[in-house]
Amino acid sequence: EAKARGRRRVELYSDDLEQRIAGKSELERDLRRAIKRDEFLLEFQPQVDYVAGRIVGAEALVRWAHPERALMMPEGFVALAEETGLIVELGEWIMNRVCETAARWAAAGIDHRLCLNLSAREITHPDFFQRFDAAMARHNTPANMLELEIGESLAMRMDIGLIEQLERLRARGMSVAIDDFGTGYSNLSRLKDLPVDRVKIDRSLVRDIVISPEARTICSSVVALIQGLGLQVVIEGVESEEQIEMLRVVGCNVFQGFHLSRPVGETRYVERFGPEGDNGVEAQKA
Ligand code: C2E
Ligand code: MG
Ligand code: MG
Ligand code: MG
Repeated sequence: EAKARGRRRVELYSDDLEQRIAGKSELERDLRRAIKRDEFLLEFQPQVDYVAGRIVGAEALVRWAHPERALMMPEGFVALAEETGLIVELGEWIMNRVCETAARWAAAGIDHRLCLNLSAREITHPDFFQRFDAAMARHNTPANMLELEIGESLAMRMDIGLIEQLERLRARGMSVAIDDFGTGYSNLSRLKDLPVDRVKIDRSLVRDIVISPEARTICSSVVALIQGLGLQVVIEGVESEEQIEMLRVVGCNVFQGFHLSRPVGETRYVERFGPEGDNGVEAQKA
């Protein structure tokens, strides 16, 4: 009896495992097909500078508009795309859409820099910078309209080749940000030698600052350190006015988060935040 139960448990487990593997390969197959069928779209989330009183940037965020499923967020497919290497192809699509959008915005007088997320697998691909240059040339994209977001752990592992490529593009006006800062381990003395303009403080460091004095201390120390190195700070994931007020006291001025705006499609973004929209900070709190 116990043996039977044990066996059943094993079977249940292996069924579950098989199902998970099947689910994953199904997703992988769908993902491959989705790249061919152009089923992705980008949303844009504004970054507001409270000193300048205007929007200074927009982060491009990928979504998968699967024909039979609800709009899928990156957490549902970006990791798999990275594992399978499909991120290179998907990333090239994203890169082209971002370059195209940035050129269109520049022509329309929307001078919000467009921030592109890059995973380690994409940016360390031997053809990455050649493809990126080609995308910029194809769409006639001004380099100063673009920012590359690189995760904290990859930033800490940058080799000389990557540093040189980023320096080359920064010389043309592009900027570089470290994303999700505070989630990994950073060699802080290394930070000052990296080709980086901005550091995006991860939401996890900001989440509890209103209710926890300790969280506030940690967050403001990290901010002071980054600013002390002469780098700009962007606070990610602000969900309340209280968070913004507290962070402004410690010298943070640029914010991105649901409190200001959720990520929206390009049409909506341009309507609300473009030249015809009201570009004042107050108006964005909707
Ligand atoms: P990320 O680069 O740190 O992007 C910020 C994420 O935080 C976005 O989630 C955004 O919608 C969410 N967010 C913004 N404000 C708030 C807020 O106030 N509260 C909360 N709870 N969340 C907020 P999203 O779009 O689901 O993207 C998740 C991650 O997927 C991104 O994190 C990024 O690492 C990755 N990702 C997104 N788009 C791309 C892409 O085009 N390429 C690559 N390689 N990765 C991407
Ligand atoms: Mg990002
Ligand atoms: Mg982030
Ligand atoms: Mg993130």
